[in-house]
Amino acid sequence: MTVRVRFAPSPTGYLHIGAARSALFNWLFARKVGGRFLLRIEDTDLQRSSDESTRSIVEGLEWLGLDYDEEKVFQSDNADKHRAAARKLVEEGKAYRDFTPKEQREDKNVKQDIVDRARAHAAEGIDHRSNPFRDLPKEESDARAATGERFAIRLKVGREGTSRFTDIVYGEQERGYSEIEDLVLLRSDGHPLYNLSVVLDDIEMRITHVIRGQDHLTNTHKQILLYQALGAPVPQFAHLPLILAPNKAKLSKRKHGEVVSLTTYRDRGFVPDAFVNYFGRRIPLSIPLK
Ligand code: GLU
Repeated sequence: MTVRVRFAPSPTGYLHIGAARSALFNWLFARKVGGRFLLRIEDTDLQRSSDESTRSIVEGLEWLGLDYDEEKVFQSDNADKHRAAARKLVEEGKAYRDFTPKEQREDKNVKQDIVDRARAHAAEGIDHRSNPFRDLPKEESDARAATGERFAIRLKVGREGTSRFTDIVYGEQERGYSEIEDLVLLRSDGHPLYNLSVVLDDIEMRITHVIRGQDHLTNTHKQILLYQALGAPVPQFAHLPLILAPNKAKLSKRKHGEVVSLTTYRDRGFVPDAFVNYFGRRIPLSIPLK
């Protein structure tokens, strides 16, 4: 089996050094084992994505010497396929239409109330799948959709059970289904959401190992449920520790500004090989610029 890995940045700003480090580990792994290193631009947030950001990502990879194989993929090109897959899950009874009116969904108090309830129930081990549309008879759901009523599509997460996987870096991971919400796959405006798109694209691109930042560890449980619903083989996962500020705080653009952007290092004359060497070998602390 040929190893296939990918770097999947969202083009919503400059190339973050944490993302660059994920790209580096994907590339190193692919090159070591004779695999393929692919680039997928996750540009589904049309308001925030820009060509300029895509360009800076591609330039950043070039600067680091991380060449990618095959044509780069733009996630937005696959949106129709993502929508179709969500509808198929509804047909198969693995997902359901949620007709909750928009105003109600957007009401922060209602949202907060749902979150609080879910937390309280998870703590008590009580099933929190109280969405009234979850068990709406199929004919009724079809009929309401046929009248043009708007709906989001949610995955039907099992009432009982535990999601488990072994992360190559972080080891055994476990999460009770009661702690996983019935995640939204398609918004009521037809917009496919991250967990659905990422899984479908990873399946289509035949990704064997998903190597990315540790901040995606909890998403992985949701994504595995989706692989299972779609009847697709689950790849292996390796989550990487995040790069921290010198005082070990989480790096944020707001607090740490230009330290976070790869371009800064290029513009300040860092030698790319030295940069790669530092991030490849060191515990992930950012480079103090001053
Ligand atoms: N677009 C996501 C991000 O930039 C990709 C995460 C992933 O690799 O699955 O965080």
